[in-house]
Amino acid sequence: MDQQTTRLSLPSEPRTFGFHVDGRDVPAGEREVFVRHSPAHDVPVTRTVACTPADVDDAVAAARAAFDDRRWAGLGGADRAAVLLRAAALLRERVDEIAYWETLENGKPIAQARGEVSGCVGMFELAAGLARTLHGDTFNNVGDDALSLVMREPVGVVGVVTPWNFPFLILCERVPYILASGNAVVAKPSEFTSATTLILADILRAAGLPAGVFNVVTGTGPTVGQAMLEHRDVDMVSFTGSTRTGRAVVEASARSNFKKLGLELGGKNPQIVFADADLDDAADGVAFGIAFNSGQCCVSGSRLIVERAVADAFARKVADKLARIRTGDPLDEATQAGAITTEAQNRAILDYIEKGKAEGATLAMGGTAMDLGRGRFIAPTVFTDVTPDMTIARDEIFGPVLTILPFDTLDEAVEMANDTEYGLAASVWSKDIDTAMAVSRRVRAGRFWVNTTLAGGPELPIGGFKASGWGREAGMMGVEEYTQVKSVHIAFGPRQHWID
Ligand code: NDP
Repeated sequence: MDQQTTRLSLPSEPRTFGFHVDGRDVPAGEREVFVRHSPAHDVPVTRTVACTPADVDDAVAAARAAFDDRRWAGLGGADRAAVLLRAAALLRERVDEIAYWETLENGKPIAQARGEVSGCVGMFELAAGLARTLHGDTFNNVGDDALSLVMREPVGVVGVVTPWNFPFLILCERVPYILASGNAVVAKPSEFTSATTLILADILRAAGLPAGVFNVVTGTGPTVGQAMLEHRDVDMVSFTGSTRTGRAVVEASARSNFKKLGLELGGKNPQIVFADADLDDAADGVAFGIAFNSGQCCVSGSRLIVERAVADAFARKVADKLARIRTGDPLDEATQAGAITTEAQNRAILDYIEKGKAEGATLAMGGTAMDLGRGRFIAPTVFTDVTPDMTIARDEIFGPVLTILPFDTLDEAVEMANDTEYGLAASVWSKDIDTAMAVSRRVRAGRFWVNTTLAGGPELPIGGFKASGWGREAGMMGVEEYTQVKSVHIAFGPRQHWID
């Protein structure tokens, strides 16, 4: 691999952000300010506002007004597409800037961050096309005196609550599609990673999105996020995060106005490797699937389910790959794995590793924090002798921790893959088309990869089966998800009277 050795420098002082309501940046004023420290460097990098529930009210009111007066929903799809395409162009110009702040707040490698942000350009471009092609249906077969239409309308004011693991990517897997049909948005990024959501507000304003159509409130989940969930003027919430908070989202919806929900929650995703796979390719994929973003990824391939005949040899191949990952300063172009984003997550991963050992699994590699002089890093970790009932085989760890479970038959592999409350993603590695197709049909997951992992484009809808969530994001389904369907039955000609 062609490795560059350049390293970006840290900012001389933290960048200060306001929040964004009705097209304006609102400074902190008397409000509390969060200072975010880079998880890889332990230095302050950004300052964001701890918004209050009153700020949420203001943001929702701005979105409500923007939606109700149809300044955006009332435009033709072509006009909305023009704004989304301008946003894509402006985003392309600011890829380096967005990637830099994403890396500083999140700890992910700069090259990875740049790749993610560049990928978001395509999401805006695709959503622009979808704004023009979104359509309903007609029934011209209901008699000469009638016509029936099935129309899609934007759902209204949409709250978007996003997590800290892919702050910009997850935002852009939703916002352009939500805007495509004419909705108004109030976004609530994680308090740990708010910067790039605020930069997107600036880009959308510069692209000509009318004021009030995209608003951002920053602050904590329990205060700001919860206020949005409870708000009766919010018509729908898209929530991405833990299954635990997902439950609170459903309860808040039921308590308030039964707002429509999109939920993308946890995963405990299987990587099923058959003996007839290209084992070198599969080992690379499995290592990538667990170590990408330091395992802080809802679609991480955290459960390796491997055919017993090759299990030991394959485990050695995976360990060899994992041992060669370049973990380090995320501002270094050559780094492949960066820091653990939050202190709570760092503790949670290390606790799971201890639990794995205590419950009798064998620690085959890693299992410790890495001392790089500063920041929070965890070595890629592999457990063998894992049984399906162990905590590390069942819980989403959200770190670079792989569990290995051997199987003997295809049926057993499928059963193990489905033996989880989750159903977000899965991979199969086999050169036998019959095997690959049988497994892809039987594993219950919203995303499925054959001989690859963590792949795909913005055309493909994403979302989960079972406790991994409700609804789909991205692609045309990601636009339709944020619409309501209205049936319109039109009568013409003289009415046949019911009362003579
Ligand atoms: P949370 O579910 O708490 O956080 C996700 C988002 O929800 C953040 O924006 C958070 O805000 C917000 N939030 C938190 N509480 C509320 C609330 N009561 N009402 C509305 N919004 C709320 O996840 P954690 O950060 O605590 O991570 C814990 C675990 O969740 C991880 O270990 C991982 O297993 C899983 N997770 C899964 C993700 C996924 O992509 N599916 C993403 C992140 C985590 P804030 O951060 O400001 O508190």
